[in-house]
Amino acid sequence: MQLDDIREALEERRPLPASAIPVLWEAPDEVLSELATAERDRRHPPGRATYLVMAIVNYTNVCVARCDYCAFYRLPNKPGSYLLTLEEVCERIDLLRSFGGRMVGFNGGFHPKLRIRDYAELFAAVRARYPDMAFYEMTVAEFVYSCKVSQVSFAHGARVLADHGVRWVTGGGAEILVPSFRERHSPLKTTVDEFYEAQRAILEAGLGSTATMVIGFDETLEERIEHLVRLRDFQDQVGGLLPSFLCWTYKPYNTELGGGEIGTREYLRWLAVCRLFLHNIDHVRASVLTRNEDALLGLRYGADDFDLPTEDEVTRSAGATIHHDFERILQAARAAGYEPTLREPFPVRTRPAVG
Ligand code: SF4
Repeated sequence: MQLDDIREALEERRPLPASAIPVLWEAPDEVLSELATAERDRRHPPGRATYLVMAIVNYTNVCVARCDYCAFYRLPNKPGSYLLTLEEVCERIDLLRSFGGRMVGFNGGFHPKLRIRDYAELFAAVRARYPDMAFYEMTVAEFVYSCKVSQVSFAHGARVLADHGVRWVTGGGAEILVPSFRERHSPLKTTVDEFYEAQRAILEAGLGSTATMVIGFDETLEERIEHLVRLRDFQDQVGGLLPSFLCWTYKPYNTELGGGEIGTREYLRWLAVCRLFLHNIDHVRASVLTRNEDALLGLRYGADDFDLPTEDEVTRSAGATIHHDFERILQAARAAGYEPTLREPFPVRTRPAVG
């Protein structure tokens, strides 16, 4: 496949084959930017970007998965391990509210004593206190582990969450969702098949979920491509229920894996590839959490949305710096040519009723 064929396929709204990705990956920056912007502008108002102010509240760092790229976790009962109380969780939310934020993502480790009902009850108690807020209430990876701890099926676990009023389970914990990568770096974490089976059960229970990817470890281009192919197929199978795709980058500090960080240029180019290949996902989100203002250059590479995070211990432990000077970050969006607009959380998508 040549660049001209890719251009033609995009103009005719045909999905790109996987063989297009290596070709795009060799294309000049300005071509990637131009193609990704054209694709973005077909779906979203040109010159406008949306954002949320949100906190990621890490209610526990206790984890038995031991991923080698993680600087956040502590083994059970080891120094520094913690499990926040409801009051401590609420203190974090109050801090977010003082910044004007109305969205919380919960994210913790694989805690061997937390059953799915424990999560559901914590989330219900938090929601009762903050009825005006929106919550992403765990990641798919945590959900898988908690269902195992609880010895229930994914369908049962998803029902427990739904019955307690949960609306969203994010697609976090995916990183590079291919078997070879997980065998190298996170053999005790959710497998690829488990991840998608669980996400399907979550969607079938009427909850919302999202798609994610983390790049910049030692993954090969082939592994990145496999991640996108499997994700796009899954999105087709579930009828487009995932509204957004967020790509962020590995932070290597204080981790067993170590290594360096990829540069902004590589991140931007990959965002463009994702926008062009993932024709069935509406929103491509750039990661201020791991790239700070540079993430906003991603608006020129196909991204249409971003977060302004107020806290996240997982990435901060590995070297992320979180700035609360939001006006400066928003100014970076304007400098990239996009007017940032604060948005509401995306509505949960559900399948149309049959019959
Ligand atoms: S990345 Fe998540 S699952 Fe892996 S060790 Fe860290 S907290 Fe545990």
